[in-house]
Formats: sequence, C-alpha cells, structure tokens
Amino acid sequence: MIKKLINRLRGKSAPPTPQRVVVPRDQHPVSRKDISSAALKTLYRLRESGHDAFLVGGCVRDLLLGMHPKDFDVSTSATPEQVKQAFGGQCQLIGRRFRLAHVRFGREIIEVATFRAHYSQGDSAQHGQTSHTGVILRDNVWGSIEEDAERRDFTVNALYYNITDFSVWDMAGGLKDIERRQLRLIGDPETRYREDPVRMLRAIRFAAKLEFTLEPGTAAPVRKLGDLLDHISSHRLFDEAQKLLASGHAARVLELLREYSLYQHLFPEGGDLEHSQRLLTLTAESTDQRIAEGKSVNPAFFYAALLWERMQEEYEELLTEGMPPVPALQQAGQRVISRQTERTAIPRFNAQTIRDIWEMQPKLEFPRPRQVEGLVQQQRFRAAYDFLVLREESGEETHGWGAWWTRYQDADPGLQAEMLRALERSKEAGGNSGGGEARRPRRRNPRKRRPASTPPA
Ligand code: ATP
Ligand code: MG
Repeated sequence: MIKKLINRLRGKSAPPTPQRVVVPRDQHPVSRKDISSAALKTLYRLRESGHDAFLVGGCVRDLLLGMHPKDFDVSTSATPEQVKQAFGGQCQLIGRRFRLAHVRFGREIIEVATFRAHYSQGDSAQHGQTSHTGVILRDNVWGSIEEDAERRDFTVNALYYNITDFSVWDMAGGLKDIERRQLRLIGDPETRYREDPVRMLRAIRFAAKLEFTLEPGTAAPVRKLGDLLDHISSHRLFDEAQKLLASGHAARVLELLREYSLYQHLFPEGGDLEHSQRLLTLTAESTDQRIAEGKSVNPAFFYAALLWERMQEEYEELLTEGMPPVPALQQAGQRVISRQTERTAIPRFNAQTIRDIWEMQPKLEFPRPRQVEGLVQQQRFRAAYDFLVLREESGEETHGWGAWWTRYQDADPGLQAEMLRALERSKEAGGNSGGGEARRPRRRNPRKRRPASTPPA
C-alpha cells in the first residue's frame, strides 16, 4: 500500500501484480497427446509426491500457438532437494546462479525449476543477489507461483499448464498477447532489461520465431540500452547468439538486430560493405533452410561469413607490411576471431573451422590442376566450396570460380579430365603467377586489384 503510494508520488506506477486467470481444459487447445511422455511422467510423479507441478514457459506458449515445443520445462512448488528425493538417481541438481533439477528419461532431460520469488523480496544476503548495475547474480529465493510468474520475462512465457486438472493458468495477460501476436515484458520494461540485458536478445529471437511484434512499451527502450550487452559474459552471449542462429529464422533475426541497433553490440566485427551484408544474409537463409530440412548447422560457417570482410582488411594490411600470403592469412584470421571472441566467445574448435574455411578460399580460386582432386577430398572442402559459392552470389568478385567448382563436381570423369586440361593450358598461358598456396582475396580498392584469374571456359 505504502509502496504503491510512493510509486504514485514518483509518477511511476508499480508493475501490475499478475492476475491469475484459470482457463479450464475444455476452453484451450493444449492436449496431453502433444506433451512428451517424459514431461508428463515428471509432472505426475511430482504431484504424487504432494507437490504442485506445472508445465511452463515456451512449451505452453508454443502448444497454444499450435507449434511443436523444442523442450518441456516444469515448474514446481518442490525445492530442488525434494525433486531429488522424488526422482532419486534419475535426477541431478545443477547450477549455482540458478539452481535446477534435471530429470533424465533415456536421452530426454526434463528441466525442473522450483517456483522463485523476485530477487529483491527474499533474503538477498543468503540466496538472491544483485550487482550495483542492477544485474541479477544469484537467483535462488523460493516463492509462490505468482512470484514465479512475475520474474519471468514476457507475458506469453508466464503461462502454466496444471497437471491436476489440465487447466492453463494465465498469470500476466499472456493469452491476450498471444491473440495480438505481441511480446510484452512483465513489469517496467527498462527495469527488466537492466536486470538482464539478454532479454533484449530473447525479444528478438521470439519475435522472429513466433512472427510476433514487440509491444511499443517493450520495444521503446531497446535502442538506447544496447550498451548493456557489452557487460554480459562472452560465453553467455555466444550461447544466445547460437540460439539466434539456430532459431530457424536467422535471416529475420539479423534484420531485427539491425532494426533495434543491437547488431553492433553482438557482432562488433561484422562487415559493413553491401556485399558482406548480403553474404551474411545469404548465409542466414541457407542456415534457416538447413534447419527446416532437419540438418545440423555449424556456427563456424556463420562466423566465417560474419568476419570475412574484416579479415580481408587485416590481410591486406599485413601484405602491405610485407608479410607473405600464407602467414598473413593465418594471422589476419586469428586477429579478427580473437577480437570477436571478446564479445561472443568462439570455442577453439569452431575457430579452427572458420580459419580452415578462409584458408581454402585462395586455393579454390584458381587451383593447380594436380591439386584439384586433393582439395575435393579435404575435410573442409564442402564448407569451403559452399562459402565460395555464397561469396559469388553475394556479388563479391570471385571470377566465376564457385561456378567452376560446381561444374567440376557435376561433371563425369571425361569432362572433369577435360576441365583439368583446360586449367593446365590457362596456367601455362600465365593466368596465374603460380603457387597453389594462399593468394590474395579480392582487394577492396579496385585500383589495386591484381589481374583477374578467371577459370578457363
Ligand atoms: P524456447 O525454449 O522455445 O527457446 P522458452 O520461452 O522456453 O523458449 P527458455 O530459455 O527455455 O525459453 O526459458 C524457459 C522460460 O524461463 C521462459 O519461457 C521464461 O519464462 C523463463 N526465462 C528464461 N530466461 C529468462 C530471462 N532471461 N528472464 C526472465 N525469464 C526467463
Ligand atoms: Mg524452453
């Protein structure tokens, strides 16, 4: 009461306390047949052990939208220790900042979280902790379902499916927002972004994936708060970037990141030129295509495209300083990757793949005839070739070498031999200064461009 009054005097309305609306089973479309049996077993077991148990978050939201949830999260009144008691060896407790139970059913893991109170309401010295910038450091204060709902991010993520009577509990007006196809933060948007700036990236991911808009109040502070991402750990940002890329809507994500001025905070080493932006869009589109076909996606390919322009700039500089092409390419790659790594940690294994893709580009642009078969056999050939084709499609000058490799792979052995002979003749004619090793990628300054090494017709 007093708090409300103070807030009113300050001209700031208190974040609305969630109003629970219970929608009975016959008035919503969430059906048990669409819920994984592991999730159902978890819910039933918790209930049998005397606890409240709900599905919550993305899975309820997706089921209401007629989509297939990618995983099922459970929220319960049981403490992590009580969950452990109910499931025994099947259950593992994880996390410090955010203590959780993982319940294992064969290969499927169900994440079970205890209802949490807002960090400021609990015994902050013991369990909840906030840094001086308002960022939540520890978040283990147990609470009621109402409190649990209040600390979730978007209203559409604060929908609970009750295993007791199969009703849906709408804790913050999420059903109306689903109807309006909009994302709305629970509480005061700026405060919620300051608590956890990654929520800005989550907004972008959900907007792209669900084809939702950001409700104006939720959208408004984003452009001015992008700086807050600069203080988030690079590992968390890599994970979040990974989710953005693998969302199946990476092309739309890129558009939205730019629209909301977040792109430069996540990808400070991304290119500016028209063809490198086009390269990134094409890469995102092909990533989305692969995901739609159920194929795996390698983040390295995306980062290879993202950092390509800056890598070339570095490379040119090192050549100008007199460094030979092969080490120059390696060093340029290393430098650019390590700069981007300050923002989004790139695992060592991925960094190696990125460099492999880059280092194969000059080899694919005017190869020695005798190296052609060896190149095709290399582990990274497929990725490097796909990359060359996308560069070509993006409008970068590659002198048709992408198309040459496409023709070569489609050709029968007779035609392949003919293509290699033609390549030999054009080498002899002095088309290439020799050395199948690293050569210069296209220069950015057309005046300095070396003679084109076009594939023989
Ligand atoms: P999906 O799994 O489809 O990507 P999701 O909504 O389930 O989407 P998760 O990251 O799995 O997202 O998180 C599960 C739930 O936890 C969310 O729906 C939300 O209620 C809550 N949540 C997750 N991250 C945050 C956050 N940074 N701030 C507040 N609540 C969050
Ligand atoms: Mg989820």
